[in-house]
Amino acid sequence: MPQVSQAHPVLEVTSLEAGSKLSGLNEIWHDVTGMESVSDAVAAHKMKYFVPLDSAGSTGLKSGAFWSHFVLKNSSSSAVTVSIEYIDNQLMGLMAFSRLRGGTGPYVESANLSISQPFSARAIKHHRFAFPITIPPSSSKEMMVKFDAGTLGVVFPSMRVWTPSQLQERSKTEAILTSFLFGGYFLMAILALIGAITMRENILYLYSVYSAAKIWVWGTLLGYTHQYLIQDNFHWSYLSLSSAAAILTGILFSRCFLETAKYTPRMDYVLQLIMLNGVLLIICVVFQWEAMADILMVLALFLYPGVVIVAMVRWRQGNSAAAVFALGWATLVLGLLVQAMRDLGFVVHNPINYYWPPVASFVEMLAIMIAISLMVQRLRRQKEVAERKYLQHLEASRTDLEYQVQLRTQELEFAKVRAEQEARTDPLTGVFNRRCFFEESGSLVRVAIKNDLPLYVLMLDLDNFKLVNDIHGHLIGDQALCATTRVISQHVRDVDIFGRIGGEEFALVLSASTEGALAVAQRIHRDIAKIVIKSAVGQVQFTASIGIAGLQGEEGILELMQRADAALYQAKRAGRNRIIECAET
Ligand code: GH3
Ligand code: MG
Ligand code: MG
Repeated sequence: MPQVSQAHPVLEVTSLEAGSKLSGLNEIWHDVTGMESVSDAVAAHKMKYFVPLDSAGSTGLKSGAFWSHFVLKNSSSSAVTVSIEYIDNQLMGLMAFSRLRGGTGPYVESANLSISQPFSARAIKHHRFAFPITIPPSSSKEMMVKFDAGTLGVVFPSMRVWTPSQLQERSKTEAILTSFLFGGYFLMAILALIGAITMRENILYLYSVYSAAKIWVWGTLLGYTHQYLIQDNFHWSYLSLSSAAAILTGILFSRCFLETAKYTPRMDYVLQLIMLNGVLLIICVVFQWEAMADILMVLALFLYPGVVIVAMVRWRQGNSAAAVFALGWATLVLGLLVQAMRDLGFVVHNPINYYWPPVASFVEMLAIMIAISLMVQRLRRQKEVAERKYLQHLEASRTDLEYQVQLRTQELEFAKVRAEQEARTDPLTGVFNRRCFFEESGSLVRVAIKNDLPLYVLMLDLDNFKLVNDIHGHLIGDQALCATTRVISQHVRDVDIFGRIGGEEFALVLSASTEGALAVAQRIHRDIAKIVIKSAVGQVQFTASIGIAGLQGEEGILELMQRADAALYQAKRAGRNRIIECAET
């Protein structure tokens, strides 16, 4: 919609310009196709299609080109050469045409700059588009500048005026400032890499890569990649590619750092969506879909605050490092918001908000580094606690094991003692069995011989015991055997040896004199006869025959037993129920 244009913006130029004068937004014309020639622009200007831009500085996302008309006036008596600089860094191309004011001649081309032309082709070696122009003494030059937005882009259609040396100075100052930023990023990337290798923390690798991506994206967006790295073959798509790298590494880092897949799975989808957006951006780069790439970059900016929300949620879940992370990411989002506001024309374009986004991005990285150190500290503490617990557990189980082993050893010892005892005793009566009796009495015999002490063996056999079993049954027979054992035991001292050496046969070794031995035999003989056992068929009573033999010379237990057995045999032969002493030979 054509409007009446305002008075030509006239910039009074001198030999001392420090970039404070701006060509401004008074006469701007949108060349929708971007294909119009300078004569078309002049015609449009004549038709008063050049109108003030109704925003704080930007055209917003538009396609085609924008033309600006302004006048540079030199009132001095000598010619003045100035450098005219585009205020922003991202533009597909810039063409400038000029003619002496008042002249009727055609506009002549003063500059033709393009993002894809070799950097060396630039008349002024500056990371933003700039060109020189000379205004003769006491005259003015009318300027027609074409800002090419490409398929879709943002234009800030204003130019700054510099004395060439002043622009050079400015360029240096900016280089120093940005080298601080890039040096910082570089340092962070290297430190994180060293940390990742030494501490084996994967998150530090990601941080290192993210830092490197930041160097790439800001270096590219601010124009340094074209100026220093890819001078001859720079392409607009590198801007999108570097942005995609920053988006992908940044979101991947955030997802890993905040462990969103584990703790906030639904919010993790949003982050995955942003990553998908980054991948699509790369696809756009491959297929050279410029407009689509621009839309995706704007979309990513809209989704970015989502990371802050996720971080806050993780903080609420108890991850204190996430709070610092949220703060850092919020700073970045704020920086990008400033950029978006500037790009959409809500705020003016000035050096502060021009550098705000990269500085905010830097502050974000610092905050994240703090967040990482908090996280590493927390992990280390957790590890220590786990290690302590593990050691305690280990100690406890060791003690438990020792106790178990002790218990088991004790049990085994008991079992061994019991087994030994069982091997030595007669299961029915509990006294020594035959084997044990011979062992024990053998050594007693040797001691007696050695010390010349008297020793007697008593062999005892119950009389007609077979009848007891036959009449009253085997169980009653067993009871009778046990009763007999009890009776004999009453007359046995600790120094004596007593055992059951056969079915109903018992033997004793007594360390006693002849009289003593006989007295014991008589008491036993008497008490056995007194045993009464009740059975189903009446009472059971029985007697015993006893053979006695005393130790003679150096005979062994076997000979001694044989002689006692012979005496017992005699007792049986003599009618049983009696005591016979083997005569001494
Ligand atoms: P004698 O007066 O000649 O010794 O006659 P006896 O019947 O006692 O002699 P014999 O040696 O022929 O019989 C021994 C009997 O002792 C045979 C068996 O019935 C009985 N006997 C042996 N051992 C046991 C046992 O452990 N329990 C029971 N209940 N009876 C036994
Ligand atoms: Mg017998
Ligand atoms: Mg018998």
